[in-house]
Amino acid sequence: MELLPRPSARPILLTVRAMVLEAQGEPLQARDLPRPVPGPGHVLLRVRACGICRTDLHIANGDLPEPKLPLVLGHQIVGEVEEAGPGVEGLAPGERVGVPWLGWTCGECRYCRSGRENLCPRARFTGYQIDGGYAEFALADARYCLPIPEAYPDLQAAPLLCAGLIGYRALRLAGEAERLGIYGFGAAAHIVAQVARHQGRRVFAFTRPGDEETQAFARELGAGWAGPSTEPPPGELDAAILFAAAGELVPAALRAVAPGGTVVCAEIHMSDIPSFPYEILWREKVLRSVANLTRQDGVEFLELAPKVPVRTQTTTFPLAQANEALDALRSRAVHGAIALVVDDS
Ligand SMILES: [Zn+2]
Ligand SMILES: [Zn+2]
Repeated sequence: MELLPRPSARPILLTVRAMVLEAQGEPLQARDLPRPVPGPGHVLLRVRACGICRTDLHIANGDLPEPKLPLVLGHQIVGEVEEAGPGVEGLAPGERVGVPWLGWTCGECRYCRSGRENLCPRARFTGYQIDGGYAEFALADARYCLPIPEAYPDLQAAPLLCAGLIGYRALRLAGEAERLGIYGFGAAAHIVAQVARHQGRRVFAFTRPGDEETQAFARELGAGWAGPSTEPPPGELDAAILFAAAGELVPAALRAVAPGGTVVCAEIHMSDIPSFPYEILWREKVLRSVANLTRQDGVEFLELAPKVPVRTQTTTFPLAQANEALDALRSRAVHGAIALVVDDS
C-alpha cells in the first residue's frame, strides 16, 4: 500500500484549538489545549473532519449522565495519523483513518469474549469518556480506528462513522424485512434508506407531521412512500427502525408492523414510552434497541458503503462554529448529516 506523503513541512503546534464542553447545559468554549502525546498503542490524529451526531447533543444537553469534563465532543472523526505511539502496528503517519463511538473495551468480559463488545460494561466511548474530534488533534487507540474507503472524501466519510454504522447495525437487526419503515429522517436514515434500497427493500419514511420538505428529501433517497408519523403507512410494514427520540413513536411503529415484525429503537436516549395495549405487541412482534457498535460492524459497513454506493449529504461548519452546528441539528435546520471541517488543507 502506498502511503500519503507526510506533511512534514508543517510547523509543530504546541497547543491545539478545541471546542470544549466544560459543563452540561452550557455552550462549548473555544480553548487551546496542550498538544496530546500518543501513549502506548495510541495514535495522534490530525483531525480533518468530524461529524456531528444527535448523541453529541444529548451529552451537551445533559440527557446522558456523567461525561468526562471538560470534554471534547465528537465521535465521527476522519483524521490523518500524525504520530504513532509505542507498540502501534499497522498504522503509519499519513494514513487516513476513522474514529467511531466505540473507543475502548475490556476484552475480558463475557460480552467482549462473545462478539458483543458493544455491550461491554466497561466500554469507553469517543467524545464521552474519551476526548473526541471537535479539535485540531485527537488521540485514539489504534485498535479501534477504522479504515476509510479510499473513494470517500473526508466530509462524505465522516457521517458513515456513526450515522452509517449505527444505522447499519439497526438495519441488520430489523431482519429480512422487505417493507421497512423508518421513523425520523435525519443523518442515519438518509444513509440507511440508500442501503435498504440497494438490498432490494422498500422504504416507508415517517417524519414529523407537516414536514413536507423532509418527506420530499426521503423520496429523493428512494423512499417509496413518505408521510407524517401520525398516519398509518399504506399497508403493513415488515419492520420499522426508529431514528427519533420520541417514545410515543414506539406504539405507533408497533401498530404499523405486521405479525412477526420487528421494531428497532436506534437512539441512545428516548423519552418515556407511553403504556400501550398488549394486543399491539402480540403475534410475535419484537421490540428491541440497538446499542453502540462493534469493530466488526465498522469493518463490514465501510466495505459495503462504496458498493451501494452510499452518498452522504453533509452540511459543513468550521470548527469554531461547533455551537452553531449543534444548534442546526437541534432545530432540524438541515437535511442529512452535519460535519465540522477542521483541516481541509
Ligand atoms: Zn468487556
Ligand atoms: Zn453518534
